[in-house]
Amino acid sequence: MAEIKLSEMRDLTRIERIGAHSHIRGLGLDSALEARSSSEGMVGQTSARRAAGVIVKMVQEGKIAGRAVLLAGQPGTGKTAIAMGMAKSLGQETPFAMLAGSELFSLEMSKTEALMQAFRKAIGVRIKEETEVIEGEVVEIQIDRPAVAGAASKTGKLTLKTTEMETVYDLGAKMIEALGKEKVQSGDVIAIDKASGKITKLGRSFSRSRDYDAMGPQTKFVQCPDGELQKRKEVVHCVTLHEIDVINSRTQGFLALFTGDTGEIRAEVREQIDTKVAEWREEGKAEIVPGVLFIDEVHMLDIECFSFLNRALENDMAPILVVATNRGITSIRGTNYKSPHGIPIDFLDRLLIISTQPYTGDDIRKILDIRCQEEDVEMSEDAKILLTKIGEDTSLRYAINLITSAALACQKRKGKIVEMEDISRVYELFYDVKRSTQYLMEYQSQYMFSEVPAEEGDED
Ligand code: ATP
Repeated sequence: MAEIKLSEMRDLTRIERIGAHSHIRGLGLDSALEARSSSEGMVGQTSARRAAGVIVKMVQEGKIAGRAVLLAGQPGTGKTAIAMGMAKSLGQETPFAMLAGSELFSLEMSKTEALMQAFRKAIGVRIKEETEVIEGEVVEIQIDRPAVAGAASKTGKLTLKTTEMETVYDLGAKMIEALGKEKVQSGDVIAIDKASGKITKLGRSFSRSRDYDAMGPQTKFVQCPDGELQKRKEVVHCVTLHEIDVINSRTQGFLALFTGDTGEIRAEVREQIDTKVAEWREEGKAEIVPGVLFIDEVHMLDIECFSFLNRALENDMAPILVVATNRGITSIRGTNYKSPHGIPIDFLDRLLIISTQPYTGDDIRKILDIRCQEEDVEMSEDAKILLTKIGEDTSLRYAINLITSAALACQKRKGKIVEMEDISRVYELFYDVKRSTQYLMEYQSQYMFSEVPAEEGDED
């Protein structure tokens, strides 16, 4: 595991797609957790944002586990935007995993396995590792063969002066390469990481009798049996439990982290990892960082998934679970029972509920302004007024979608600024839900499967 640069891997697995929420940079709260009317790409929805801010604070401050939050509200009222805002405010160190309820029903793995992976993506492990570092003043560097670019077989010797003695090191190609990069000369004070061969230049011209302890309280020197002076340095890696699972899953290997093609991970692998992590925690080598797991369209989960979640939240490593839905009273999947949001009452009872409210015309206007900036579209005042009106009459999402298409219409007529005519043109080209439904009502008899007239008592 030491060979793999875990931090780099983590960056790669965190790549996010730029899209509908790319303008959201946080929750837009001030230091007292009050919502600014428009900040960090967020507009309005102040009480929901304040509540989300309290949750973020709880995650950042404490090591609380097993809490669950429900974002409930009509379509397009910013539930996903708020969840994205939470992710942005948590910072890089805190894991944030996201999935839509419908993603659980794939053929590749069982839904509980997919949920388990999502949970473990949202649990971070901060692992502290000690590496040995040799430190000294360079007296002489000899390279057996002249430095030829690309010659991997170079070897050499490095004479170091430490406080007590002179030590000669055999240099491998890796170290010579590192020396070349660092441009080490005689007289430099360097540190060599024994594990990686990495050379760090600490400075120049220290006196021989220099007090090494003055380098800082965290610098610890250990006298080794062969007389070498060594320093122990602490390195911290942050990974998720899921990343550790994948790396240690023999069938998959760590490359699966890049492809996302992890398949099912055996229960024994997870048990071993949990035991190991528990040991590390006891020895003070690791600590758990509970993150946030966001499940959108939670009404798509069925009764088995809900019972899995109920159990998973009992675990002391559980992350904060944030779920969102736009459904009212509806059936719980996998049962004939109806329930608020399609969520079983016992699970609903565990949730802190944050509700989102429909937007005012003013909010819609500000969100459209932000989206125009984000999409680099210049729009006239009249066009913005018209688009806001369309947003109020149809939906915020529909109005946002018209921005790019109106910009294209403007480009087509060689204009620079999107005008009312461009908005009207795309409004006619693309139907919103209301007009599309109306059209269907009028012409449904001409569509497929409407051949046989419905008989009385057919509908249930
Ligand atoms: P659904 O129930 O259909 O999933 P939703 O409540 O999750 O909808 P979003 O997808 O968050 O709605 O919002 C629709 C669009 O409006 C997104 O592009 C989102 O970024 C933007 N948006 C929503 N609310 C805000 C807000 N308060 N500030 C800025 N942008 C917002």
